[in-house]
Amino acid sequence: MCLLLIGPPGAGKGTQAVRLAAHLSIPHISTGDLFREHIDQGTELGQNAHTHTRAGLLVPDEVTIGVIKERLTRPDTERGFLLDGFPRNLAQAHALDDILAYSESRVDAVLDLEIPEDQVVRRIAGRRLCRRNHEHIFHVDYSPPEVDETCDVCGGELYQREDDRERTVRKRLEVYRTETAPVVGHYQAQGLVTTISACGQVQDVLNRSLVALGYGQVDVAGTSG
Ligand code: AMP
Repeated sequence: MCLLLIGPPGAGKGTQAVRLAAHLSIPHISTGDLFREHIDQGTELGQNAHTHTRAGLLVPDEVTIGVIKERLTRPDTERGFLLDGFPRNLAQAHALDDILAYSESRVDAVLDLEIPEDQVVRRIAGRRLCRRNHEHIFHVDYSPPEVDETCDVCGGELYQREDDRERTVRKRLEVYRTETAPVVGHYQAQGLVTTISACGQVQDVLNRSLVALGYGQVDVAGTSG
């Protein structure tokens, strides 16, 4: 299954993507995480990406599409994947359609996470990521770690993303409205989009997503219902 997760910053895409991908047994591919890995490693690509991410702007398409194209050639994607944060504009959506068509595949479903903008800043301001693994995501109010500033999963140090500061978040929201919202229209025209409310508890949003995809709900212990 080729599943896309789209939504504004602060909608909880990363948090949901990790859980959905685990439930569906497909890899979770986040362009944001791929860029953060490059930035942490100080690669040339990372340095280029950083000038854009720190300003809340999109990384240029040729770089982003190249990164995704390479990632989709790895064997773990053969039975499907979940894309989180890609495509983020129409050019990327067309590029993805072409990449998939080349392997006689296509996008199967798109989940569009929706959240009022006034909730976004509050959510993002409290978000903390693990330095060792960016998939370990916490929130100082909604899902606090047991020990302050320490990852419950691996003991890594938690930090706030540089682009999670308020002014940058407002820029990212503007970019979302102008560049990414049309991507939803592109897939809506193909009848592939289900809009999900991203408000409420992580588990509730996950259950809405699974129901939208035709799966049963998951209880807190993680078994299907
Ligand atoms: P995210 O973790 O998805 O919020 O992404 C963090 C940042 O990485 C974004 O604000 C962009 O600067 C960059 N980025 C992630 N995905 C893309 C994409 N598909 N196209 C361009 N830039 C991206």
